[in-house]
Amino acid sequence: TEQTYDVVVIGGGGAGLTAAVEARQSGANVVLLEKMSSVGGNTLVSGGGLNVPGTKQQEQNQVKDSVELFIEDTLKGGDNENNKELVSIMANNALPTANWLINDIKVEFMKDRLQQFGGHSVPRALIAKDNHGTDLIQKLQAKAEELGVVFKMETRANELITDESNKVVGVKASNAAGQELTFHANKGVIVATGGFGSNVEMRKKYNPEYDESYMTTDVPGTTGDGIVMAESIGAETLQMNYIQTYPTCNPETGIISYVANSRFDGAVLLNQEGKRFVEEMERRDVISRGIMNQSGSYAYLIWGQEVEEVGHMTEVHKQELESMVKDGVFYQADSIEELAKHFNIETDAMKAALTKYNEDVRAGKDSDFNRRGTLRTIEKAPFYIQKVVPSVHHTMGGLKINTEAQVLAADGQVIEGLFAAGEVTGGIHGTNRLGGNAVTDVIVFGRVAGKNAAK
Ligand code: ADP
Repeated sequence: TEQTYDVVVIGGGGAGLTAAVEARQSGANVVLLEKMSSVGGNTLVSGGGLNVPGTKQQEQNQVKDSVELFIEDTLKGGDNENNKELVSIMANNALPTANWLINDIKVEFMKDRLQQFGGHSVPRALIAKDNHGTDLIQKLQAKAEELGVVFKMETRANELITDESNKVVGVKASNAAGQELTFHANKGVIVATGGFGSNVEMRKKYNPEYDESYMTTDVPGTTGDGIVMAESIGAETLQMNYIQTYPTCNPETGIISYVANSRFDGAVLLNQEGKRFVEEMERRDVISRGIMNQSGSYAYLIWGQEVEEVGHMTEVHKQELESMVKDGVFYQADSIEELAKHFNIETDAMKAALTKYNEDVRAGKDSDFNRRGTLRTIEKAPFYIQKVVPSVHHTMGGLKINTEAQVLAADGQVIEGLFAAGEVTGGIHGTNRLGGNAVTDVIVFGRVAGKNAAK
């Protein structure tokens, strides 16, 4: 069957839903193709954190921040291999985009919570209600439905259709019933299919280090389809070898641990020998590599009541906690000895490490690793411990786009009719994406792509 729309959006994660809403609001009729049976993608399973300089939350907490500082941190975090123009667009549009999410989409952010993710010099992340991406996705989906975006679920895009001038004019897809469908696009096609973290073969093709020995935090739908489809009509990719692992994931499932966000409130990382080995506020790649270099290639995250009462991670993420207990990777006790005994960690070494750390906290300086952020002691019961491993989390590389979210060919020319946004694109995060920058990127560029495709 054949159908015609102004704009065809491929992928219903954060970028695709945002693009669909914007394109529709710009007057286009829009169809969104999603290969899974529900929308959300990796955005849904994210922590719902979004870096935004200049918020009310920062003002209330007297945090001094600026667009320039946000750009500086992002470039430093990506070893300056980022596309600076794209970073500038992300940073400059973060605040208006957050206001759009709050006022137009009705997304709810925690009014009194700001988070400082690794690599950022100040706390600048707004955190969505319930600390995950559910509210964000549900509200974007509701808005898209209200505006009349047509959703085609369990519909997988297989191929981009081009005309004789290589302009993209539609998409070939197939649905769960095995039907072949053709979607013609009068104005544009937006690729928002996410990254390729769930595609082990593709990971190995671009970076053999990230083979089957790593699990992934990703949802199963992120298999790099959009990259492959666009490449086959001449699109340029870049930085495909930059694959990020998230350092603190469940060693049994590979799923990202949000309970482990206690790290940002002051939890410490120890190895099996009971010793610290890395600054806990370091970049994800540095911590991941640090963990991989410890015996067994895992680590333990440890905290006490002083840290727990800041963010209440074990309560906020109760469901995750229950599954970690079931998996045997989490334990709570009233003494450090009990924690150590439970996981066979060298008790004296662990106690010594924590005693030293507590002294440093009181002195106001971490003498071993110069930890950033607010330092908090670990001496009040109950104490918490969880075993963690790095797991593939984000693929920084992808399609090359310009500042208008148009996809570029190898010769630098724009491929007419083709737009891309979100994790499927490459270059904005350089070698390493900082925490809370994915959602900002995805929403900012989803809007750019939606508006431009509707023109
Ligand atoms: P982003 O954060 O960039 O929006 P997400 O991972 O949140 O990326 O969302 C990507 C979405 O695209 C997922 O819901 C995934 O199932 C969907 N998707 C991936 N490949 C295809 C495809 N070939 N056709 C339709 N949908 C796809």
